[in-house]
Amino acid sequence: MTRQFQHVIDGQSIAPDSGEWIDSVNPATGEVWARFARGNASDVAAAVAAAVTACGRPDWRDDSANRSAVLHAIADLLDQGFEQLIEVEVNDNGKRIREVRGQFAGLGGWYRHFAVALADLQVEALSLDQPGVSARLELMPYGVVGAITAWNSPLMIAAWKVAPALAGGNAVIIKPSEMASASTVMFAELLAPVVPKGLINVITGYGHEAGAAIVAADDVRKVTFTGSEIGGSKVAATAAEHVKPATLELGGKSPQIVFADADLENTVNGVLSGIFLSNGQSCVAGSRLIIQEPIRDLFLQRLQERVASLRFGDPLRDDTDIGPIANKPQFDKVLAMLDRAKQAGAKVFAGGHAVKVEGFENGYFIAPTILEAVATDSEIWQQEVFGPVLCVRSFATADEAIRLANDSNYGLAAGVWSGDADFASSVASRIDAGTVYINHYRSVSACAPVGGIKKSGYGRELGPNAIRDFMQEKAVWHGTAPLPNPFQR
Ligand code: NAD
Repeated sequence: MTRQFQHVIDGQSIAPDSGEWIDSVNPATGEVWARFARGNASDVAAAVAAAVTACGRPDWRDDSANRSAVLHAIADLLDQGFEQLIEVEVNDNGKRIREVRGQFAGLGGWYRHFAVALADLQVEALSLDQPGVSARLELMPYGVVGAITAWNSPLMIAAWKVAPALAGGNAVIIKPSEMASASTVMFAELLAPVVPKGLINVITGYGHEAGAAIVAADDVRKVTFTGSEIGGSKVAATAAEHVKPATLELGGKSPQIVFADADLENTVNGVLSGIFLSNGQSCVAGSRLIIQEPIRDLFLQRLQERVASLRFGDPLRDDTDIGPIANKPQFDKVLAMLDRAKQAGAKVFAGGHAVKVEGFENGYFIAPTILEAVATDSEIWQQEVFGPVLCVRSFATADEAIRLANDSNYGLAAGVWSGDADFASSVASRIDAGTVYINHYRSVSACAPVGGIKKSGYGRELGPNAIRDFMQEKAVWHGTAPLPNPFQR
C-alpha cells in the first residue's frame, strides 16, 4: 500500500494546499511505495508564519537554558526512537540498512552536542580604543532559517543544520529532497511531543516550487543548502536578490593520494569505503585515486579482488554489501557518464555496467566501477558522478600528485596515504580542500568544520563556529562620560 507523507507545520500534519502529491519510487524494486505532499508558496507561507511566532517567544529567543533542555529532549527521543525511521529511509533512497542504522543511531549525538555547546554563547565585553564609552557584543538569532537538504543522507544533513540553528534561538523550515522526504517528515512528527510548536517545520515538494518559495520568503532570514552545484547557484542567486545569507554545501570530486610507502591493506580499506560505501552517493566520495607508480598494479589488483567479493541485494538485509542507486534519474546519469567514459577510451578494471539482481530485477543496481581516465580534462575525471565510480591515475613525484589533486573545480575533501606522517602532513597542507584526512577517510564530528572551496560551495557546518553561523552580532554601546555640545563655538 502506498504510504502518504504530509507537511509538518506548527506541530501538525498538514495536507498540501495544491491537493497534489509526488510519487516516491523504491529504488530496489522500481515501484512507487509512498507519496509526498507537493508544497507550494501557500504551504511555505503557513510554515513561515508558524516559525516566526515560535522563534519570537521570549522563552525561546532569550532563554538558552530552555533551548538546551529542548535539544537534550530531542536527543533522548532520537536515541529511543530512531529505529522506527530506518525502514522508510531505506525504501526511499535505497541506502543499505547497516549504513542507515549507523547514521540514525548517531542522530541524537548531534543534537546533544549543541545542547551543551550553546553554554559557550556568552555576552562578551569589547575592549574599545576610545575613552568615555564601553561596549559589549551580543549574539542574536536570525529568526527563521530555511534548511534545504539532499536525498543521500537526509536526516544527518538536517541534523547539521537544525541542531545549531535551534541552539542559536532560530526556528527552521526543512525542505527535504523530493526524492527522499519520508524520514524527515517522520522525524518532525516523532519530535512533536518535545519540540515547541512551529520550531521545526517540514515542507516537502520540488526545489523550484517549495524550495524556491522558502528561499524567497521575506521572513526566512538565512538559508542553508546541501545539494548540487546547479541547485546551489540558484539558491544563492535568489538569496542575494532578497538580501539574505546562504551557506552552500555542494558536490565534490575528492582525490585520494596514495604514496608507495602507505600501509597497503589499511589504504585499500580507506579507498574502498571512501568510494563504495553509499554507492559513491556521498558528497565526500573519494572518487579520484591518485596512486604512485611503483604500487599501482598491486593496489589495483587488491581493489579488484575486494570489489569482486561484494554481494548485491536487498538494502533492507544486513548481509547486503551493494544496494541500488538511489533513484532512476541518478541511475541513468551514472550509466550515461560510464558510456561516455568508455567511448572516450577509459580502461575499465572493474564494473562499468548495470547489474540485474535476482528478486530485484527492476532495481537500479550498478556494479562498483574502477577505471583509468585517459585524460585529466575528461568528463569522468573532472565531473562529479555521485555514483560507485573510482577513476585512477598514477604519478611519479609528490609535486605531480598535488598538481593532479588540485586540478579540479571542486574542493570538498581529500585523503593522503603514506607511512611517513610528517611528509603526509606537509602534503595535506598543500591540498585545496575544506577537509583533508591523513591515513583515514570519511569521519565527521560536530567539533570539526565541514564545507568546501571552489565549486564545492562556501560557508561551513559543524565545528566551533557552528552556532555562531546561525546568529548575528550586535554591538551595544554605553556612554560613561558626559558628551560635549557638538555645535559649541
Ligand atoms: P539537488 O540540488 O538536486 O537538490 C538538493 C535540494 O535542493 C533538494 O531538496 C531540492 O528540492 C532543492 N532544490 C533544487 N533546486 C532548488 C531551487 N532552485 N531552490 C530551492 N531549492 C532547490 O541535489 P541532490 O541531487 O538532491 O543531491 C546531490 C548533490 O548534493 C550532489 O552534488 C552532492 O555532492 C551534494 N551533497 C553535498 C553534501 C555536502 O555536505 N557538501 C552532502 C550531500 C550531498
